Amino acid sequence: MRQKYIVGNWKMNQSVSSLSSFFENLSIDETTCETWVSPQAMHIPRVLDAAQNIKKNFQVGAQNICEFDNGAYTGENSAESLKDLGATFTLIGHSERRHIFKEDHALLNRKIKHALKHDLTVIFCIGEQLEERKNGMTEAVLKYQLQEGLKDFPADKSLREKLIIAYEPVWAIGTGEVASPEQAQEAHHFIRKFITSDLDFQGDTVPLLYGGSVKPANAEGLLGQEDIDGALVGGASLKGEDFSALAQTASK
Ligand code: PEP
Repeated sequence: MRQKYIVGNWKMNQSVSSLSSFFENLSIDETTCETWVSPQAMHIPRVLDAAQNIKKNFQVGAQNICEFDNGAYTGENSAESLKDLGATFTLIGHSERRHIFKEDHALLNRKIKHALKHDLTVIFCIGEQLEERKNGMTEAVLKYQLQEGLKDFPADKSLREKLIIAYEPVWAIGTGEVASPEQAQEAHHFIRKFITSDLDFQGDTVPLLYGGSVKPANAEGLLGQEDIDGALVGGASLKGEDFSALAQTASK
């Protein structure tokens, strides 16, 4: 059986005081899934500090990285500095980066390779928009995003093991409208097959996460699907009690 994951994407949320209350209400010591969070970069040391008493592996990552090593790139965060702060992974290609910040396939591909160079695990986010789903284009969109984003991915097995894919239908992110377990399973199954047959990954070992309005009330149906190995969670990951409930469901 593959390992399960609950990954919190805190986006541009959490303050010093809400972080304290997250940890006061967190209860994950008995859970068996991986529990990861990606706070705003400047909070990484504070989160790691607050997580010291957690009795299990709890990883902290970034939401984005700059494609360059260092230098005159005002406002960017380098992979090297994020790693220095204690980040072990980064999201790449979240729909907010694609749509608000206009990050294109080629840039995401460079960022993925750059993250690997700095030994960061990559959670590569893909997903179709509502119009694309309505027009029956979901698989074509996923295929293109995978082909372009993972183009020339290094063949090295240890680097291939650093890839996690998050299927996040754009219409379900932050909208309260969650994909049905069947819709999500269908997309995950397609992704697993495609990365195996066309991109030469050992698809049955690549963790595939679902993201889009996951909360404690709907997690069980999604996490019970054969090809869904966990969840990437925005809103419901901000409160310690909800995050804990999700981790408990993923550990069943
Ligand atoms: C996300 O931002 O990756 C996400 C899935 O958000 P939400 O859970 O709030 O829909």
